[in-house]
Order: sequence, then C-alpha cells, then structure tokens
Amino acid sequence: MRVDNAIVEKRVNDFIKRSKELGIKITPQRVAIYRELANTDEHPSAEAIYKKIKNYYPNISLTTIYRTLETFEKLGLVSVVNILYNAARYDANLEPHHHMVCVECKKVEDFYDESLSKLDFSQKTLSRYKVLGYTVQLNGICKDCQSKS
Ligand SMILES: [Zn+2]
Ligand SMILES: [Zn+2]
Repeated sequence: MRVDNAIVEKRVNDFIKRSKELGIKITPQRVAIYRELANTDEHPSAEAIYKKIKNYYPNISLTTIYRTLETFEKLGLVSVVNILYNAARYDANLEPHHHMVCVECKKVEDFYDESLSKLDFSQKTLSRYKVLGYTVQLNGICKDCQSKS
C-alpha cells in the first residue's frame, strides 16, 4: 500500500533534517532511496528498492542500495524488521509499532494493538535487561493467503 503523500513528505523532511544534524551527506540519490522506503508500508528489501530506483537511476548498483540502507540503519534513520527469511526488510516508520509476517507470501504488515503497549514483564526478565522498547512479531498467514487456500 502507498503511504499518504503528506506522511511521505513529512518523513522525507525529517530525514533531511536528521541527516543534517548527523552531518551525513545528503545526495539526491540518498534522498531517492529514502523516499522509496518512505513511500510504502510494505517493508521492502534492498532488492525491491533497487528495482524501483533503477527506473530513474539506471546506473545505481544494488551494493550502493545495501550500503546506503545499512548507513541509514546505523544512524537510526530507518529500522530493520528482523524476519526469519534471509533478506533484511526495511521500515521508514519509526513510530512504535508491531509486525505481522506472513509465512507464505513473506508480506510484512504493520499493526498497532493497545494491549501490547503495557506488557507486564516478569522481574526475572527486568532484572536481566533494561528494556528500552520492544516490537512484537506475529508469524502467521495473511488474509490474502488464507483466502487462497
Ligand atoms: Zn500472505
Ligand atoms: Zn513496520
């Protein structure tokens, strides 16, 4: 699904602002890579972004996309969805939210659930770890795949 234009513009503006604060170079190519990610809630892989960018930056390499996304991730400009399949999937949505991962079509969808905002961790867990945040990942079968079978 495409993300609302106003949200995309806000994400891109925040991205440029943050990049300036962090002192990283803002090139048209970098902005284009970020914009492709900010444009969608599909949590694309580097390869999926590459396929889109190639249409208007025919000389860009997949390696550049990988490196750029890795840099963004290290700087906290994007996040990575850890999934069980071999490709990292990227997310421009930095609001706290959770993911549903379809084991059949590998689709990654966002979800928000109030009941997850106040998880009651045991003392045993909390004594080991200072929790700064968490993302819940549900593995299952999406609506589309359920209707296919
Ligand atoms: Zn599915
Ligand atoms: Zn997400």
